[in-house]
Order: sequence, then structure tokens, then C-alpha cells
Amino acid sequence: MIQRISILLSLCLTLFPFWTGSAVPSSPQVTHMIKKEAFGKTPDGKPVELYTLKNKHGMEVRAMTYGGAIVSIRVPDKKGHFDDVVLGFDKADDYTAKVPYFGAIIGRYGNRIAKGKFTLDGKEYTLPINDGPNSLHGGNKGFDKVVWEAEPLEKPDEVGVIFKHTSPDGDEGYPGNLKMTVTYTLNDKNELIFEYHATTDKATPVNLTNHTYFNLAGDGQRDILGHELLLNADTFTPVNKTLIPTGKIVSVKGMPLDFTKSTVIGARIDQKDEQLIFGHGYDHNFVLNRKDKGLTLAARVYEPAAGRVMEVYTTEPGVQFYSGNFLDGTLTGKQGHVYKLRYGFCLETQHYPDSPNEPSFPSTILRPGQTYHSTTVYKFSTR
Ligand code: BGC
Repeated sequence: MIQRISILLSLCLTLFPFWTGSAVPSSPQVTHMIKKEAFGKTPDGKPVELYTLKNKHGMEVRAMTYGGAIVSIRVPDKKGHFDDVVLGFDKADDYTAKVPYFGAIIGRYGNRIAKGKFTLDGKEYTLPINDGPNSLHGGNKGFDKVVWEAEPLEKPDEVGVIFKHTSPDGDEGYPGNLKMTVTYTLNDKNELIFEYHATTDKATPVNLTNHTYFNLAGDGQRDILGHELLLNADTFTPVNKTLIPTGKIVSVKGMPLDFTKSTVIGARIDQKDEQLIFGHGYDHNFVLNRKDKGLTLAARVYEPAAGRVMEVYTTEPGVQFYSGNFLDGTLTGKQGHVYKLRYGFCLETQHYPDSPNEPSFPSTILRPGQTYHSTTVYKFSTR
């Protein structure tokens, strides 16, 4: 009987898609959906829209125009049960200044610039200091704190949302009008693809990334220390106590930062290692092993209880693995869940921190006439 009801129900859902209201119509044989709706207001009162993307397997991604932030990602576990695997809030109003970049697009420069200063073509630029003595994630009002323009994207086998924003010349101290397009696409391979494009009219550093906090156990109700992590990185950029790279590129061999073989995140996190002490856990840029400039595996994460796997592929040279060391139970997120120490982790694909001050690191300078282009894929499956 129950089986018959569920067959009938799934037939009904196929014939009559359940999303109505402001849903942007998809192709006639509905396998994907995009929905747009109001999602509250920014701290300064601007309306925020929420886009919901769904693929034919039922994987669902929600992203809002404030910060272009990923609000939720619902994927199945090994038994087919869907959960939300990212931290966030129920409405835009809760994404206040104190929120540590949940889900957001980060820029103009993701990660730290030492003492908020860099020199470019002989001119010194000064940025806001917002992290100890350094400038972090674009300054006081980075791209996580602006309302992006958005439009839906539909292709035969995928749905998406295109975010656009122009950061004006002098924005947070950075030179040049930076025109950006960031596209999120969800396809039927359960891949969420981030594609970043930017152009400028003056030379400027650019390092765009996404700051989603994941917890593959679902719904952010426990720490991430039991997740198993593989990083495709034989080396990393060690930091000083303010988390600025020393400029060296060092082998991870023999260190608690060696994730070249899949290892439980919590296994070594409390070791008395200088790098872990500086980071209060993992908060480091790993240098990816790569053969060419194409998409390369950066990380694979597995959560054994739910059986969810997330793989990260990128065209970027590095990934910041941040183990949520500054979550402290003061934020109450979706469904009233309190986000305590290490309840989420981030894998921020990026160029290395402080590159504008480290000539030996791959350049982050974008010049007029050039196009910034970077792609990162988060692929979900189960085991
Ligand atoms: C940084 C952390 C910082 C966090 C803010 C990460 O990208 O590496 O040090 O605390 O962002 O949430």
C-alpha cells in the first residue's frame, strides 16, 4: 500500500512540478527548476533575493543576492536521505557584519594582505586593517557584503544563476573599476560549478573565492572532526603568527598538514605543531599538485556516518583549508542549530595569501585588456 502511494506521489510530482509562485519556468518536461523569491533585507535595508536551483536527482542549491552567498545545499546521504550540508541562516537579515563570510563570494582579495599594504607599478596602496595587523577578504566591506545583481541561467541539462557586480575604483582601497560575473551552475552530475570572470580599467590584485562552510553529516549539528580529508598537495605555504605566509613553499611530509592520503581531520588537529598553533587548527593554503592549468583535483572529503563525498576541482593554484576554528557557539543558524567550534570547514580555492607582496608566488595582478577567469567545481556523491 505504502509503496503504491509513493509511486502515485512521485508520478504526481513528475507531472505537476510542486514549485509555483515566482518560479522561472523551465523546459516543458520539467527535470530542473529555478525559483526566485524574496529573502529579507540586508543590514542596511536593501531587499535580497533568493534563487533555488534543483537538478533532476533532487539536489538543491540556494543562493542569495547578498554576497552572492550559498545559503544551502541539499544532497542525499548513502540511504538517499537529503540534508543541508552547509552552514547559514534562514533569512538575509541574519547575515550581519559579524557573520564569518558564510557561503559568500570573497574579494577583491580572498585571504590576507600583510599590514594592508602593497605596491603596484611603483605606487603604494593602503587597505583597511580588519584582521589583527592585516587586511582580510577584501576589507571592511568586501564582496560578501554587497547585493549582487542576478539573473537565472537555463541550459538543457543544467540550471544556474549569474551574479554581476562592479566594484568601483578605490573600493576598499583597491585600484580600478572591477567588473565581475560569477556564475553558479548545477548540473545532473551533482556538480555545483563556480565560474569567475573579471575585467579592470587599472591594474589591481584580484583573488576571488567562495567561503561556504560545509558539514557533510548534514544540518550543522556536530563538529567536522570525523570527516576524512584528502588534499592533492605535497606542499603548503607556512605562515607566521598573524597567518601571513613566510614566502617559503614547504613539504607537508611528516607534518600534521599531510593530507596526501585521506586522513580524519581531527586525528592530529591538537598536536603541538607551530603551524597548527598559529592557525588555532587548520587555516592554511595548500599548493596544489598540478600537471597543467586545467581543472585539477584539490580535495576529497568523506563523512563516514552519512556516506557523503565531496570532491573539489579547480583551476586555481591553491586551496585554503580552514577547519572552522573561530566558530564558537555564538551564532545560531538554520533551524535553530548552534554553530560551535569546528562545526563547519571551508575549502577556499584561491591564489596564495599575500601574493601582491610575494614576487615568488603566482601573480594575482589583473591588468586592463586581460580577463580574470577561474573555475571551481564541488561534486557530490555517496559511498
Ligand atoms: C580564514 C580564517 C578566517 C575565516 C573567517 C578564512 O578564510 O583563513 O582565518 O578566520 O576565513 O571566517
